[in-house]
Amino acid sequence: MRNLSLSTDLISRQVQPVKSQGKPSASAYLDTRGTKSQRESKRTRSQRARERLQTKEHLARLAVGIHEVELAEKIERCHSRISVLTCGRHIHRVMPNFTCEFRLCPDCGRRRSRKLQSKYLPIMSAFMLHNKVTPVHLVLTQTHRKENRKQSAKRIKDSFTRLQRRSFWKNHFKGGTWSLEFTKDKNGLHHTHLHIVGFRRSFFAVELLRGEWLAATGDSHVLNLKRIEDIAAGLREVVKYVSKPLDIRRFGAEDLREFLKLKNMRMFGTFGEFRDFCTTFEPSDNDAAEVGELESFSRDLVEGCACPQCNEPLFDLRMSNKELPQFYEQIESSPPGKVGMRWN
Ligand SMILES: [Zn+2]
Ligand SMILES: [Zn+2]
Repeated sequence: MRNLSLSTDLISRQVQPVKSQGKPSASAYLDTRGTKSQRESKRTRSQRARERLQTKEHLARLAVGIHEVELAEKIERCHSRISVLTCGRHIHRVMPNFTCEFRLCPDCGRRRSRKLQSKYLPIMSAFMLHNKVTPVHLVLTQTHRKENRKQSAKRIKDSFTRLQRRSFWKNHFKGGTWSLEFTKDKNGLHHTHLHIVGFRRSFFAVELLRGEWLAATGDSHVLNLKRIEDIAAGLREVVKYVSKPLDIRRFGAEDLREFLKLKNMRMFGTFGEFRDFCTTFEPSDNDAAEVGELESFSRDLVEGCACPQCNEPLFDLRMSNKELPQFYEQIESSPPGKVGMRWN
């Protein structure tokens, strides 16, 4: 807490609220569609930033506990100093001094999942333009056994490979992406799920797919299938497990030790015709027009540019990641369109 109150002082010294003219237009906000799938997005950005901080502190403590001192230091150093490109009201980029690249690091995970989204979204959109397919979100589950995380992951991936060899699957799916989600229940059993964005060629009764999954696993028919209305939201939903493969708050030292053994395990991949499409994909003008400017929007912004949302000049604000939640709070508590902040 001492750190936090210290950093509030720091921020209020640097960032003084000033009056600013003009309201950001409604269209200025990129993400107006909202995704019902993301329960997380209901939490404010400051809450999420604070949770990331707590997760990292927890991970670093666990790492010290199992004598992974180097890992602990890397996690602590990761994002410890950041440079925030902001107009005082909108944040366009957070540049860290150092990234640990540890798979469970929430800051590094976020970056990784954003990278995956900006890589795959244009390819998915183009794939859908070129093929008559419907995107679906399929969650495959398996029965619980006494096994470690690695065995559990291998078992579900092997089952999925068998499913893909079946003619039913080939007839109805034209490929897609997969990612792994790990959870652990109160009894310590691992639950591993496969989240798939699948491109469905034609409609089928879900019961048939359950039967196929049972044939592939030998003992599980449990799955969930829903149509994806918005491919960007659907992809986001699936890659979030790349940034957050498991619930770290319930994570103990043993879990960390076990997770470190998974070092080379893939958590995300493509399959089927979509996979081939990815290797040869080069966007045409048509594709680019369809896909839109989701990411390119803020990529080229630098200090001195006008904020695309409110036209105020952008500046770099240096801070520690411990101060970021408060910075978000200041932004969240400013009445929209009334008060901006400027760095003195
Ligand atoms: Zn990191
Ligand atoms: Zn702005």
